[in-house]
Amino acid sequence: MNLFDQALDIGRGLTERRVRLGVTGLSDAGKTVFITSLVHGLLHPARMTRLSVVGEERLDVAVLRPQPSQDLPRFPYEACVAQLTGHAANGDGKPAWPQSTRSIAELRVSIRYRPTGLVSAFGDRLLHLDLFDYPGEWLLDLTLLDRSFAEWSAGALALARQPAADAFAAPWLEHLDTLDPDAPDPAAETAALEAAGRYTAYLRARRAAEGRATLLGPGRFLLPGELEGSPLLTFCPLPPEAPGARPARSSLRTLMEERYRAYRSHVVKAFHERHFARLDRQVVLVDLGAHMSAGGRPLAEVSQSLDAVLKALAIGGSGWLPRWLSPRIDRVLFAASKADHLPSDQHPAMEDLLRRSLGESIRRTAYRGAELDVISLAALRATREVLSKDEDRRYVAGRTEDALRDVAHFPGRLDPGLTDRGPADRGPWGARDSFRIARFLPPPGLDPAGPWPHLRLDRAVEMLIGDWLA
Ligand code: GDP
Repeated sequence: MNLFDQALDIGRGLTERRVRLGVTGLSDAGKTVFITSLVHGLLHPARMTRLSVVGEERLDVAVLRPQPSQDLPRFPYEACVAQLTGHAANGDGKPAWPQSTRSIAELRVSIRYRPTGLVSAFGDRLLHLDLFDYPGEWLLDLTLLDRSFAEWSAGALALARQPAADAFAAPWLEHLDTLDPDAPDPAAETAALEAAGRYTAYLRARRAAEGRATLLGPGRFLLPGELEGSPLLTFCPLPPEAPGARPARSSLRTLMEERYRAYRSHVVKAFHERHFARLDRQVVLVDLGAHMSAGGRPLAEVSQSLDAVLKALAIGGSGWLPRWLSPRIDRVLFAASKADHLPSDQHPAMEDLLRRSLGESIRRTAYRGAELDVISLAALRATREVLSKDEDRRYVAGRTEDALRDVAHFPGRLDPGLTDRGPADRGPWGARDSFRIARFLPPPGLDPAGPWPHLRLDRAVEMLIGDWLA
């Protein structure tokens, strides 16, 4: 018996159960920090009292244990803690945010607890919480499943021809003009590599400049994970063929269409079957503050990512998955992350906006199934609140990334009412154009072996798996 098993008393007749929790959200939504803080909170639970098993003093011990899947990377929990607490071997001794999610990862925390009610007479129980971290961009690819190559190409080309994209897309678009995609082409493979390379460069440059431009895809072109350099990623959108023309069998179009279909079945469906369909619970993080900030991404992109999640949940019933592989997710929590970027009097508005956008998504995706909930949270609270009596305003204060000392920042006011008025008064998401969040450094002095500050992380965990710990 190893040390972990001794701590948990494994193998001595405890009832063991397992719950698989997916953590997703677009890049920068806060997945890495969320998983690190959640695990740290379970291991050091003093500030997790709104999680019933902690509040009711039924939590015995939680420990990290070897993950169940040998073939998935392990979530780098220890490295993230070292960075956040300023103990990273290669760091400068200052707390820093950890490296964000780029691919999938898994981590198992095993929790020994005393159940409530009559069953407590039968002794402690063991819950294995398997956390599964994956980029939301990959989930967005599900929208490709019901689109043909021609339909996808038309949408992606329209996006690339937007005036705002010109600087990024021009080299790829100009290159497309030099191609004859329907003619027989013995060098089609080389041509595909060249065109796909240019398309990928455009996507990445545009995303780097625009932030979370979620309409861009496919997801693996932006975050390839293990597919870096794979032939599955050598296709790109093509302009429509001339009316009546039939592409030659050895043409670039035929090759790219095949690759597109292979991407859908070997990447998109495979990801869904292998990972998504095996989750029990799901949390979706949304960085609303960034979307609402002046110059931030528009509402449509948030909605699209919510649509994709709902679609992923509903998709099991839609035909291509065998019934036993339909998602079994029965609870999804949509969380507005980094709530510490806003003063607390604005958190209800934040939740309200997320709820509304979700409402629209649900209407669009004809979804039925799991229980959905909304919360705003800060997995790791980096600010404190300061009330200015003169102005009757709350500020968030902390060390920002570009200041050397603490600053108090007023991001502007999120006013959900504004979304219902004319477009003239509002920016995206009903925020006034002056709305702007500041990026803060992690809080100083975090104890690697003690509890960390957060906002409603314990509530969120209760909503997600509280019933499994009852
Ligand atoms: P991921 O790409 O979804 O894995 O996002 P991360 O977890 O890496 O978070 C991206 C960035 O958001 C971090 O580097 C932090 O700057 C910020 N961040 C994440 N969570 C919090 C939080 O709870 N509070 C604050 N203030 N910032 C956060």
